[in-house]
Amino acid sequence: MTRLQKQNIDDFKAHFRGDVLLPGSAGYDEARQIWNAMIDRKPALIARCASPENVVQAVRFARKHSMLVSIRGGGHNIAGNAVCDDGLMIDLSLMKSVHVDPTARRATVESGCTLADFDAAAQAYGLATPLGINSTTGVAGLTLGGGFGWLSRKYGMTVDNLLSADVVTADGTRLQVSETENGDLFWGLRGGGGNFGIVTSFDFQLHPVGPDVLSGLIVFPFDQAKSVLTQFARFTETMPEELNVWMITRKAPPLPFLPEHVHGKEIVALALCYAGDPTEGEKLIEPLRGFGDAHGEHVGVQPYTAWQQAFDPLLTPGARNYWKSHNFSQLSGGAIDTIIEYASTLPSPHCEIFVGTIGGQTTRVAPEAMAYSGRDANYVMNVHGRWESAAEDKRCIAWAREFFARSRPFASSGAYINFMTEDETDRIAFAYGATYKRLVELKKKYDPTNFFRMNQNIKPT
Ligand SMILES: Cc1cc2nc3c(=O)[nH]c(=O)nc-3n(C[C@H](O)[C@H](O)[C@H](O)COP(=O)(O)OP(=O)(O)OC[C@H]3O[C@@H](n4cnc5c(N)ncnc54)[C@H](O)[C@@H]3O)c2cc1C
Repeated sequence: MTRLQKQNIDDFKAHFRGDVLLPGSAGYDEARQIWNAMIDRKPALIARCASPENVVQAVRFARKHSMLVSIRGGGHNIAGNAVCDDGLMIDLSLMKSVHVDPTARRATVESGCTLADFDAAAQAYGLATPLGINSTTGVAGLTLGGGFGWLSRKYGMTVDNLLSADVVTADGTRLQVSETENGDLFWGLRGGGGNFGIVTSFDFQLHPVGPDVLSGLIVFPFDQAKSVLTQFARFTETMPEELNVWMITRKAPPLPFLPEHVHGKEIVALALCYAGDPTEGEKLIEPLRGFGDAHGEHVGVQPYTAWQQAFDPLLTPGARNYWKSHNFSQLSGGAIDTIIEYASTLPSPHCEIFVGTIGGQTTRVAPEAMAYSGRDANYVMNVHGRWESAAEDKRCIAWAREFFARSRPFASSGAYINFMTEDETDRIAFAYGATYKRLVELKKKYDPTNFFRMNQNIKPT
């Protein structure tokens, strides 16, 4: 970075409608904090953009002064790429407008929106698009990496529902991208992360959902894990696409519907959501109750927006987190045994292993149709290492890494870039698989100097 003079910063501020924060400014420390408390980086400047024009100004300023750039949407990325040391953090989190067109079933969503912002606006019309399971996540980062959640079996990945986007490229040009306009860039944005430009807004297809859905948790004793997981694997292979069931194994939080003696003990939970008529859903979920002798359940008809927030209390910002992840096309006996082995040695009360079920519509798109290529993934497993103090780092990270290595033989191809930690740069080509070569070509075209490199980086070489 060339040395920034006070005058340079004052000139930048003078024409910037949002906020420009320096170390020591009020709000600087709050703005640089992200979800994963393991990340503690100090940008030289934070540009809190209020408009797409501000994003252009920030990109041009960073270019002029050869500054490292990071982009912050919802600040949830586990790798912490939203924030950089000594560079310019382009913070989009103030850009929060959502416009829903209920007739066309489309939404235009600015890139500072969280899933909660988007869901609330769309559900006002009984509409939604597939998003993730923690409502404080950013729409931008989730979408650009692929995006999946409760609705994905029926309506596909988030990127499958992206119709167009407004982008600021590495040279500070504003472009509209869609299948018919700058189609190559549109291809790359749908899974290519933040490699190709800064998206200022997204246009999504919406679908009728709820607004009430049958959803909830059924919790089984850990000594029944083998039987529950084996039945879960079989059931999820053939369940209808409106139904989604995920598996979580962890130590039980003090949920009111669980007997007190279970709190803090290992459990296996099935989390379910039926995106159709709840009466029909009730019949379809009945077999799940027979998977074992449940400790308890909390299943009922509730607003879709409430279910989208159900996991928020377990996923609050401020903890230390380290993740590893595999895709699986099938959950084999070997995978199940390894999950159970490592779930019985959880190194902290907050660590968990979850298996998110996708499949259905997500597998019907050709792997080369867009940058996201994980079309043979029916399950995405996240080894979620989570704990409170730095003293626990070594033990918890070792547990996650060891389990990741032991479960690798059962995994299928590819990996979900949105679940990758900062030390996985050597896995990028594997993660993209079929689309990696084309992504490198696209990077050469749109970002030959690797201006956007605080991401799961596709190098232009
Ligand atoms: C608790 C939790 C639960 C999650 N659950 C799910 C889930 O159910 N399904 C799922 O698919 N994912 C899930 N994720 C992963 C999530 O998709 C990623 O963490 C994602 O990167 C978060 O996006 P963000 O905008 O919040 O992140 P940020 O950290 O703000 O951004 C991440 C990266 O995305 C890029 N980026 C962000 N905004 C832009 C933009 N406007 N233009 C260009 N590039 C940009 C940048 O490279 C940035 O470094 C979860 C994450 C967490 C922490």
